[in-house]
Amino acid sequence: MLKGKVAVVTGGTRGIGYAIVKKYLENGAKVVLFGSRKETVDKALASLKDENGDWEVEGAYPDLSDAKKVEKAIEAVKEKFGRLDILVNNAGISDSTKVDKYESGQFEKVLNLNVNSIFYAVQPAVKIMKEQGGGCIINTSSMVSISGQPGGVAYPASKFAVNGLTLSLARELGPSNIRVNAVAPGITRTDMVAALPKEMIEPMTAAIPLRRVGEPEDVANAFLFLASDMASYVTGEVLSVDGAMRA
Ligand code: NAD
Repeated sequence: MLKGKVAVVTGGTRGIGYAIVKKYLENGAKVVLFGSRKETVDKALASLKDENGDWEVEGAYPDLSDAKKVEKAIEAVKEKFGRLDILVNNAGISDSTKVDKYESGQFEKVLNLNVNSIFYAVQPAVKIMKEQGGGCIINTSSMVSISGQPGGVAYPASKFAVNGLTLSLARELGPSNIRVNAVAPGITRTDMVAALPKEMIEPMTAAIPLRRVGEPEDVANAFLFLASDMASYVTGEVLSVDGAMRA
């Protein structure tokens, strides 16, 4: 479904991002995954190469809070592969701090990674996509961008902003043949969720209409659809992949 396409996936070393990288490689794309540290990037690359030595996958670890470094890393992808078709802005951190317990700078740290870093990656990517006649951008939102959450207000605030960026960029960039969408996962079995005790998982699962937590692959499938030509007329959409838990 993605033969010949070149993709960048931020936060691609583990969890949902890693599942997206794998799904894109399985479908013929060349992928550059961005992580936060050399060690975790190398580990992810080794594990992907182990699965299939023919996959064209590389890694980088620009500081996503530094616009210049992000720009350089995106430009390096274009230099190496000649184009950039798909930008997945997936890196993110969550938060559960009560509003009166926030320490100085903590709110800004969540917004910096979850929102500002998307803007920093979008700018150089759009330049390349405009030159080549099109492309697509997919952002990782969350079900809390619809429902909010009691605590950790920086996190839902950041994901509401992701939806705003998505819809507005879709309207601005449509005439340049650049589609912009988001995926809003519900509770997904990444390392963090897998480590929770049964006593916490069971009531959470009971509140999900589909009666199971999502797997990273459930979410990656939505990213595959949105990146592919199957979604050629889909833009400005926030696609929930949450078993209807948002309701
Ligand atoms: P994870 O913690 O397993 O992975 C996060 C990724 O982001 C990692 O690859 C990490 O390297 C990267 N990252 C974190 N801080 C970074 C930084 N400062 N600089 C660069 N990269 C950094 O998380 P996940 O659950 O796979 O989450 C991925 C995305 O999905 C996030 O945007 C998250 O908000 C969203 N999400 C997750 C869930 C869930 O239940 N897991 C639900 C809704 C939305």
